[in-house]
Amino acid sequence: MLFEWCLKDLHGREFSAEVMLYRLDLPDEGTLLQATVRDISERKAQRMALLQREKDLLEAQRIARLGNWVSDFNSGEIRWCEQIYQMFGRPFGERISHDIFMQAIHPEDRNAVQTAFDAALKGAPYDVIHRVVRPDGSIHTLHERGQVEFTPSGWALRMIGTVQDITEQQRLEDELARNAITDHLTGAYNRKRFDEEIEKTLARRRRNGVISALIMLDIDHFKPINDTHGHDVGDDVLVALTRLLSANLRVPDLLARWGGEEFVIILPDTDLLEARHLAERLRRLIAEHSFAVIGHLTASLGVTTLQPTDNPRSCMKRLDDALYKAKFAGRNQVVEAQPVMDN
Ligand code: GH3
Ligand code: MG
Ligand code: MG
Repeated sequence: MLFEWCLKDLHGREFSAEVMLYRLDLPDEGTLLQATVRDISERKAQRMALLQREKDLLEAQRIARLGNWVSDFNSGEIRWCEQIYQMFGRPFGERISHDIFMQAIHPEDRNAVQTAFDAALKGAPYDVIHRVVRPDGSIHTLHERGQVEFTPSGWALRMIGTVQDITEQQRLEDELARNAITDHLTGAYNRKRFDEEIEKTLARRRRNGVISALIMLDIDHFKPINDTHGHDVGDDVLVALTRLLSANLRVPDLLARWGGEEFVIILPDTDLLEARHLAERLRRLIAEHSFAVIGHLTASLGVTTLQPTDNPRSCMKRLDDALYKAKFAGRNQVVEAQPVMDN
């Protein structure tokens, strides 16, 4: 029989011992018990250190939201650590196959995962970000990295990898990216985003001849609204106006806050007539809308189309001039910019 005991040596020092007991039945002397004792303190200390390292690694993985996995191509078995079961919202220990794994991937991301997997089988590092839909319907974003191990003759044996839950990191990055291009008060795009888009739209005009239009809108007599009702009410009007405009634009249209109470709209694939109609519709909608606290207000609008010879400054100058004319002509109206050349 084998035992593991804590013993004391002659100097009183405690040590871990592996004790083997033998029973000897001797004809003349009766039954004897013989024992061999081996000091296993060092072996035990090494085992404890290894267990501690494993615990530390698991804890580090938990903090980093990182899990490790192995996919054995011979048996078709996929081994996940406990963290990954949590990331996929599945019961710990459930048998995982490639099909189960693929079904858990967000349908829009399955192709990307399969492509990364196929590339990994040809020797590329497996590196893919995908969403996973948990059984409770919640969606998490995971970053998977791995590498296939091949036999010397080139057969894929297995793939080893890690998976990290980057949902929170992704959310923060998305928020930062959104903040960088939106106006904080109204949620419309800011000048930075507008500048990028106008360059792209001008390039399309020059390269492909695509006609696109611009509208500039400025609230009439906005200052008295602030003066009468206070700045916060003025802010609320800007937010409500943004909502009204957004609700009446197409998906590809881009609404940006140009400055205080001025907005610009890029209308891709839109000619002057269509832009003019839209501007007129927006003008009417604004005039008919009842804003909280202040009631009714009006806006003046300028319209133009982008010309092949335009740069951002030249088309904005034309648009600004048209808006100025709308103001000068009595406000609450739409004015087309002077044509530069035939559209
Ligand atoms: P006009 O018909 O000529 O456009 O008259 P207006 O009073 O609208 O024009 P003006 O440019 O003189 O005034 C714009 C005002 O918009 C001045 C400023 O106090 C206000 N404004 C600019 N930005 C904001 C903002 O973020 N919030 C609020 N509440 N008011 C703003
Ligand atoms: Mg104004
Ligand atoms: Mg103004």
